[in-house]
Amino acid sequence: MNHSDSERIAGFLEIQPHPNPLLSKEREFKPTKDIHKADLVIFNTCGVRQMAEDRVYGQIHNLRKKHPETKIVLTGCLANRKDVQRRLKNKVDLFCEIKDFPEIVGTDLVSVPREQRQALPLQENYLKIIPKYSAKHTAYVPIMTGCNNFCSYCVVPYARGREVSRPAEEIIGEIKLLVKRGYKKIILLGQNVNSYNDKKINFSKLLKKINSIPGNFWIWFISNHPKDFSLELIETMTKCRKVCECVHLPIQAGDDKILENMNRKYTAREYLAKIEKIKKAFAKNKPGKLYSITSDIIVGFPGETKKQFLESAKIMEKVGYSMVYFGQFSPRPGTMAAKMKDNVKKSEKVRREKYLNEILKKTSFSNNKKYENKIIEVLVNEEKNGNYFGHTRTMKNVKITSAKKNITGKIVRVKVTKANVWNLEGVLKK
Ligand code: SF4
Repeated sequence: MNHSDSERIAGFLEIQPHPNPLLSKEREFKPTKDIHKADLVIFNTCGVRQMAEDRVYGQIHNLRKKHPETKIVLTGCLANRKDVQRRLKNKVDLFCEIKDFPEIVGTDLVSVPREQRQALPLQENYLKIIPKYSAKHTAYVPIMTGCNNFCSYCVVPYARGREVSRPAEEIIGEIKLLVKRGYKKIILLGQNVNSYNDKKINFSKLLKKINSIPGNFWIWFISNHPKDFSLELIETMTKCRKVCECVHLPIQAGDDKILENMNRKYTAREYLAKIEKIKKAFAKNKPGKLYSITSDIIVGFPGETKKQFLESAKIMEKVGYSMVYFGQFSPRPGTMAAKMKDNVKKSEKVRREKYLNEILKKTSFSNNKKYENKIIEVLVNEEKNGNYFGHTRTMKNVKITSAKKNITGKIVRVKVTKANVWNLEGVLKK
């Protein structure tokens, strides 16, 4: 989501002439790769991990020291946090939430008097900004922003506010344009896309509409919430030809008490029942097609005992994930979990992550083995040293060794010759 927001920030700064006459003259920004040459630097921050947060402090400190005249704006997850504002008070010119970006950044930077600001419906306005897409073949399209769930470890509901869905016509218009421009993969984004609802249609219906847009392109979506991943959606996604056969369904923990403390609102049993439904629906609606299931797991949540941790390991064995993104718990200021005792030692968190990663290696490899000697579709991302690299509809990385012509940005057919733990290798098929 932050990546997509940055594309909108870039789009906003570069748009010329700007529809708001108050801003058009002074705001002639051009991008530079050299931070030392910039008049304006915008930090679009992520507050999910402490490490990312610490990097921001360091970079801002160095920049301010070397270039006292540079304008520094801080947006994203950290912008609203009072402790961050206090800490960076003398270093940052402007803190603003991403949804307020078009109004505040434009006006404050060009010193337009506050009373002359136009009244804007802020969140909708921000999503209307035309992004400067950074990738040539894959485009991120936010369909909603914010979250109503308040998982106890997560800053998103505080940083981004409550859920707001973009009107379906606007999303479809953006995707039609992208497909016309040759984009091959559209990733629908939202903190919880499953609860999309623009007061006319839900996420499942939106997916059907996007699937019916003519053209050769793939559709994928993140992130999902197990409690909102409905039977209607399972049926729809497994029936739509353009929707990729990859479900990212974050479990976060395998123990019910930990799930309750995380405020996830499902049990391990309910989660597994949903996984079974997904597997059955793929078998029924896309028979013979390979699919993948991926997840997120937090290790060392406050109070997580070794026994409770092993429940996460059990879930991993049962589901047989293709990929899991692990996170070691770190308290995020302002969240409920930050008030709990962070009593799992760092070394134990590292050990738990390693333990789960060993299981993942096994399940990932056994999933990859299923691809050997099969012919599959691959979207090619780049060329390096004569080899091409891309990914499947199931989000598996593929190295293609035999291509003679430039196939970057194309969807090609590949015969898989070798399965490795984390990727596949193959040759181009006609
Ligand atoms: S659903 Fe996702 S974004 Fe929303 S609070 Fe939970 S973890 Fe955060």
